[in-house]
Amino acid sequence: MPERFPAALQEKLTERLTFYQDIGIQLFYRDRYPHQRASVTEEIPLSKPVQKPLPAKPVVQPRPVPPKPDVFPVASDPSLFEAMNRIPGDTLLKIQTDLGDCTRCKLHRGRTKLVFGDGNPKAELVFVGEGPGRDEDEQGLPFVGRAGKLLTQMIEAMGLQRKDVYICNVVKCRPPENRTPEKDEVETCSPFLLRQLDAISPKVIVCLGSVAAQTLLETNRGISHFRGQWLDFRGRKLMATYHPAYLLRNPSAKGEVWKDLQKVMVVLGLQGKKGSQAGKSS
Ligand code: URA
Repeated sequence: MPERFPAALQEKLTERLTFYQDIGIQLFYRDRYPHQRASVTEEIPLSKPVQKPLPAKPVVQPRPVPPKPDVFPVASDPSLFEAMNRIPGDTLLKIQTDLGDCTRCKLHRGRTKLVFGDGNPKAELVFVGEGPGRDEDEQGLPFVGRAGKLLTQMIEAMGLQRKDVYICNVVKCRPPENRTPEKDEVETCSPFLLRQLDAISPKVIVCLGSVAAQTLLETNRGISHFRGQWLDFRGRKLMATYHPAYLLRNPSAKGEVWKDLQKVMVVLGLQGKKGSQAGKSS
């Protein structure tokens, strides 16, 4: 049979459609698991035994749900970040120069390459992850491994490309065995993240996972308490969602993340505008 698309395009299409399917968009592909789902139009055979009606369940009154605030307050005390003033005229280049061949914390001992960040320096959308993994440490670029591939798919599903957004991490050097960065490492490195965010001045910050969210929001609360809600970070809109590495282990959570990203798309005016740029002229 003749190939309908070049192999590389076919592979990319398959990946994209699989991703859409995983996040619950089901309108334009053939069902991969038709036998596992009941068809809505399936006719009930006449010979089917008549089922006895189930006993009525006791009626449980729903508890009243308090209305959610638009911007959810997380930290009540004045934060370290609030106390840090914006450095006038700061640029990513200056920040990278100041960071230099950093030896400020113990993570530098195990690193191959420092991973500063990558993307549009004027992006309206910044993704903040936890810290480099093995692939990132080797290449010096954020989110280039398996989790990165998924992040790229999510960005493209939003109608953007990686070069339109900015991607960085809380810590710039790989923690040994990909362990969670420790408090002293986060405290040493995060002021550089803050400077990056101030220099880029994005409209929306998306925290990928609890380390990024807890660091920027200066909270110990679990991400599930505030995931998917609009939060405030130094006057900017912040959305915390699950880390792509978590999604690789729990694909059923992709739909939740997609809902969060759709909220971001609304704020950035990306809905219905596939292929649009979320950058302020790069
Ligand atoms: N996970 C992260 O948090 N950051 C990366 O850059 C890669 C994986």
